[in-house]
Amino acid sequence: MIDLSKGFSRRKFIANTSCFGAFYAAARLIPLPALAAETASDSRVAQTPLVDKGFASVRKIGNGLYATISDPSKGITTICNGGFLVGKDAALVIEGFGSPAGAAFQLDALRMVSQVPVKGALDTHYHFDHSMGNAFYGANGVPIWAHATTAKRIVESYVPMQGADKEAVLGSLEKRVKDAKSDLERAHAQSDLNAVTGVFQIANASVLALPNHPIDAAKLPMMMDLGGLTAVVESYPGHSGTDMIVKVPEQNVVYTGDLLFSGWYPVCFDEKATISGWRDTLKKFAALDKDTLFVPGHGQICGQEGIATIREVFDDIAGQAEKMHKAGVPVEEAQHRYVVPEKFKNFPIYAWGFTIGPAITKLYAEWKGR
Ligand SMILES: [Zn+2]
Repeated sequence: MIDLSKGFSRRKFIANTSCFGAFYAAARLIPLPALAAETASDSRVAQTPLVDKGFASVRKIGNGLYATISDPSKGITTICNGGFLVGKDAALVIEGFGSPAGAAFQLDALRMVSQVPVKGALDTHYHFDHSMGNAFYGANGVPIWAHATTAKRIVESYVPMQGADKEAVLGSLEKRVKDAKSDLERAHAQSDLNAVTGVFQIANASVLALPNHPIDAAKLPMMMDLGGLTAVVESYPGHSGTDMIVKVPEQNVVYTGDLLFSGWYPVCFDEKATISGWRDTLKKFAALDKDTLFVPGHGQICGQEGIATIREVFDDIAGQAEKMHKAGVPVEEAQHRYVVPEKFKNFPIYAWGFTIGPAITKLYAEWKGR
């Protein structure tokens, strides 16, 4: 197999997305520890990774189960987490990642442990960091599975950016930086501009490839027999309106996609994101077995403590927002006034206007409706 990660294309990709790299530096990203203390003692989790390229490592986390954990402080080939499931007869790979080189990296790791045919690749949702590497699967004859509306959302979100005048896409955000009423609002606007600039660059650097195996969410759960290993695909509301998870009930392992940000502020900007829906989903995750191992969409592998933490983050945002709501603070102001508490101060924030800002705006809208 051609290793795209060593070729010209990757260097060019990095050069094209240097601003995105700057965003990751600005987002206070600290290198991930190899494993969080809570999971380091879990006997299912291998202490030594199968492969570690800095931007991501792959680690065994169960019988035929592997997690790909990205560390975007060291490179943006993969950006999101993923993983793969290997049975006697077939394998399922999870995520299209931020680039074809990212998808190739994961498939190379799979080939280190098994030669079974790949039954499919699942995009857990449509966002660029989970789907821009899909072209690699297309080129290698791997069917791409996803929520039935994922293809449409990829097209609607990223095609308009391709070949577009940069000013047309970024102009209003640049204006927001210039016209900001305070240093705080300027910093928030700048973080949004950095993030959208990164998405614009990646969308223009990528050949979009769409899932060709739409999954009807109404017909879930879907069992996938890989030979001695059964994966269960389910869908839950919260992050993007297209969110799928992969459960392996026999081993208490769940690949959550972005329904779990582990040690990060959750990304809530999506028009289909729902804060109450997401919090209900997390409550369901919290009710799973106490020994459940979660592979989040971003951040480190975790157990139930990771679910408890993201629920605390949502509680904190909702608590601060509710106080402001009761005090009559208008939403335009409230979305900027949230204060990151000491205990979450190291949690990366992928741009204010993609995380905390829209969480507060959506909460206000939910309260208006009740
Ligand atoms: Zn996402």
